[in-house]
Order: sequence, then C-alpha cells, then structure tokens
Amino acid sequence: MTVLARAIDVTRRYGGVRALDGVSLDIRAGELVGLLGPNGAGKSTLINLLVGLRRPTSGTVELFGGSPLDPVMRRGIGVTPQETGLPESLRVGEIVDFVSAHYPERLGTGELLARFGLGELVRRQVGGLSGGQRRRLAVALAFAGRPKLVFLDEPTTGLDVEARRALWDGIKAFHEDGGTVLLTSHYLEEVEALAERVLVVGQGRVLADDTMRAVRGLVGTRRVSLVADRLPDLPGVLSAERVDGRIDLVVTDPDRLVVELVRAGVPFSGLEIRPATLEEAFLALTTNPPKETAHV
Ligand code: ADP
Repeated sequence: MTVLARAIDVTRRYGGVRALDGVSLDIRAGELVGLLGPNGAGKSTLINLLVGLRRPTSGTVELFGGSPLDPVMRRGIGVTPQETGLPESLRVGEIVDFVSAHYPERLGTGELLARFGLGELVRRQVGGLSGGQRRRLAVALAFAGRPKLVFLDEPTTGLDVEARRALWDGIKAFHEDGGTVLLTSHYLEEVEALAERVLVVGQGRVLADDTMRAVRGLVGTRRVSLVADRLPDLPGVLSAERVDGRIDLVVTDPDRLVVELVRAGVPFSGLEIRPATLEEAFLALTTNPPKETAHV
C-alpha cells in the first residue's frame, strides 16, 4: 500500500521538553488512523511535523514521498488544527468558496456543507454560528480541496453529541470514498467510532500501533479494588497501589484475576470492579508499556 506520510525516528524538543522521542510510523493510503493519548502526549506536535508547520529536531518526516515543507506536497493535504479562527463577517458559503479557490480540484460548496450537516447555513454569517457549528465548518474546510490526506487535531472536543455525530458522518463519508485520515483524540469512544488503526501515544512515544480491537484490550482495562492484607503475584496487573486500607489494581482481565485470587486462597473482601478511565489506562501503559509494540 502507498505510504502517504511517514516519520522515521523523529524527535522534537521544545527547550528542555522532549515532545516526541524517536517516533516512527507510516500512514498508508485509505487508512483512517486514530492518534490516541492524554494531553501533552505529543499528538499535536506529530501532526504539526507531518503537515510541515514545524521541523523535527532530529529524524525525518515525509509527505507523499517528499518534504512536508514543499507547497506542492502540501496541496494534497487538508488540516484542521486544534484552534481555528474564522472571519466573523463572512457568510459560510463565502468562506468555503474562498478556501476552495486555492485548490485545483474542489468539492462543491453545497456538497461539502451537506456532508457536515451545515447545508442550511450556507448564507449565515460566521459571527452568528454556534460554537459547534463553527467547529464543524472549520473541520469541513479541511476537505474543501479534495485532499488525499486529512489531519484533524481533536476535531470534536467541546461539541455536543449531535454535532459530534454530524462531524463523524462527514469524516466517514470522506474515508468511504477512499480518503485517508489521521485524527487525534483523547476520547476512546471517538477513536472507536472512526478508526480502524490506533496509535497510542504517551510521553512522546508510540506505545501501541494496532487495530482498535487490540488497543481496546490494552487501554480498555479495569480497576479492581478490594480489601486484603497482602496479595501474591497476579497475572495481568498493570499497576497496584494501597489507598485508604484498600488495594487498587489496574488489570487487563478482571475475571482471571478473581479466579487466581480465589485459587491462591487469599482472603479478601469488598471487591469492586469498574472500567478504568483512559487516563488510568494511559498511566498504567506508560509506566508499564507492552513488551513489544505490535504492528499491523
Ligand atoms: P498533545 O497534542 O498530545 O496534547 P502536544 O504535542 O501539544 O501534546 O505537547 C507535547 C509536549 O510538548 C507537552 O509537554 C507540551 O507542553 C510541549 N509543547 C508543545 N508545544 C510547545 C511549544 N510551542 N513550546 C513549548 N512546549 C511545547
């Protein structure tokens, strides 16, 4: 499969902060890739490098086999950064026409707006749009020039459920037409709804690169809490701490853990099991990363 974007052993520092630390990855034609990680993991930095807004401190970044700094390569991409500003006095349709005019190939204004549930707003001034409508417009603009590859940084943060679904539909329609997308999110459910391949990023490193199903197994961990004097070594425990007389464990397979506890004859009480938050899962993954990063 054709590689559209590639990072080879890329490190990016900001002063003393190592935002990315030896990252290598390929984005291939037709993929919808989710970049999942907590705040500060390095997701925006990676996108900024791939789209040529920043340069790596060391390592190589390629876009369509060339440099992301080359305007010819950049014409093939669409980007929506985390924060965007749009001129308040322009109408929605005017902004789309203005952006589309920069590209040799364009999607019709009506079709683009319809894909993102904005068809009714074509004559509305941007100043009169809700926050969710503005964000949808900002994301829609990334698709205006019929790009081959689209980068979306936290596309739906702060949107309500309905606006989020409208955005997801637009992204899915592009992907179903053969388009390639790399999107960042710190919502597992967003990546789950869209992406087939997931890169888990933490502290500037790729912690996992796998199918959504496999990554769910890694970050879809459970928190098991119980009262016990001491525990033997147990399988699938990513982290363990004592809190207020209880033992809190982050585990991959709570059923197996309980079976092992009973089998070991360990007295325990007050068993509670709940899904670990993504933050807890990331913390466990970062301090106890999987032995081998699996590749698709
Ligand atoms: P994410 O998008 O996953 O939240 P970022 O790529 O924005 O992560 O940030 C990764 C790390 O780099 C963080 O520690 C952040 O504070 C730091 N960082 C990002 N951009 C800058 C910058 N322009 N100047 C200094 N530090 C930065």
